[in-house]
Amino acid sequence: MNLVEKDQKYIWHPFTQMKTSGPALPIVKGEGTLLTDESGKSYIDAISSWWVNLHGHSHPYIAQKVFEQMQKLEHVVFAGFTHQPAVDLCEKLSRHLPDNQAKFFFSGDGSSAVEIALKMSVQYWKNKGENKTRFVALEGAYHGETFGAMSAGARSIFSAHFSDMLFESTHIPFPKEEQAAIQSLKTEIAKGDVAAFIFEPLVQGAAGMRMYDASTLNKLIQICKKAGVLCIADEVMTGFGRTGTTFAVNQIEAKPDFICMSKGLSGGTLPLSLTSCTQDIYEAFLGDDIHKAFLHGHSFTGNPIGCTAALASLELLEKKECREAIEKITENHKAFTEQLGALKVIEEIRQTGTILAIELKSDRSGYASKIRQKLYDDFLKRGVLLRPLGNVIYILPPYCIQEKELKKVYEVIQEKLIELSQN
Ligand code: PMP
Repeated sequence: MNLVEKDQKYIWHPFTQMKTSGPALPIVKGEGTLLTDESGKSYIDAISSWWVNLHGHSHPYIAQKVFEQMQKLEHVVFAGFTHQPAVDLCEKLSRHLPDNQAKFFFSGDGSSAVEIALKMSVQYWKNKGENKTRFVALEGAYHGETFGAMSAGARSIFSAHFSDMLFESTHIPFPKEEQAAIQSLKTEIAKGDVAAFIFEPLVQGAAGMRMYDASTLNKLIQICKKAGVLCIADEVMTGFGRTGTTFAVNQIEAKPDFICMSKGLSGGTLPLSLTSCTQDIYEAFLGDDIHKAFLHGHSFTGNPIGCTAALASLELLEKKECREAIEKITENHKAFTEQLGALKVIEEIRQTGTILAIELKSDRSGYASKIRQKLYDDFLKRGVLLRPLGNVIYILPPYCIQEKELKKVYEVIQEKLIELSQN
């Protein structure tokens, strides 16, 4: 049996329609933006492998740092123990985060980072003697795969089978309709039981790269602050430069109480996540009473190798060349969409920083849109990994993407848009 046959025998891949999705593509090498398969064919990874990769695959600097750390300390229980990589990472990260972020809690993936913020919010109020358990989120929200994260998210194709089992949360209008969102948020807060407001700042990823203004987000957070409602910024996708600033919330004045980070945190090399919070949150858990403590911990919490990768990735992100690359991608996206002109098939073009989304007119929007698989297959044939979200084609590239690679991605998309406009 070859690799693909063995894969089919043993492996259950995520997000595949078992009968119609073809066999998985066997990737043997990753370098820079390129992924190479068994036959030697290369693909430009224009979606950063599910939005995680920042500096390119198998980055030599990150690999070297990880290799060195591997030989010193691979893992240690993080309850009551600590190590240099964890401390260095949090110290370095705190320089990029809003200055109210004081404490960091480790976990291993974005869903857990969100789950932790949700649990901390509820327990924060309990520790203060108040029973506030409802979450307010945005229409279209996606916060992860676990039950809590699904509950905070919008009810969708992803959560449909579990809808009876999800806890209640309320979804206010998408902030593009600023007044409606503000009004609805105020109405919900007035009910007095809201533990926290959770949001993907500036860009909703899974919903189809839906974007909204920083000024609206600022207002929504300020409303919560005034009313004493906690705010959770889910920066799992938007963090680490995607929106043009290190974090999306760097573009606003108001400061959330929690920030959830994963994906780009380790530069896309190892599973790692963080939930940061304010000193006020932390202090609500301080004390002699074990019942007040946050009794939550994952086996691989604070993994030193993951922290080392994250530290190395953050060093690369801080480099002038990386900041310039982010700006260049942003400019190139703008120039590309300007020259695209009016094509019949395009419903809307959106851009925030390095994220470019082109929404197509479709009889059926959303993730179940039939056009998705066909686009994916056609792009892949042309050597570009783009994974449309339903009828939304988007580019979210690693920052190391070369000008000629980006040009090829644009070319492949433009040709497809022209073809679709002619039908
Ligand atoms: N929050 C957001 C905004 C996300 O985009 C995702 C994943 N796409 C998650 C949370 C969940 O992260 P993970 O897949 O690492 O659990």
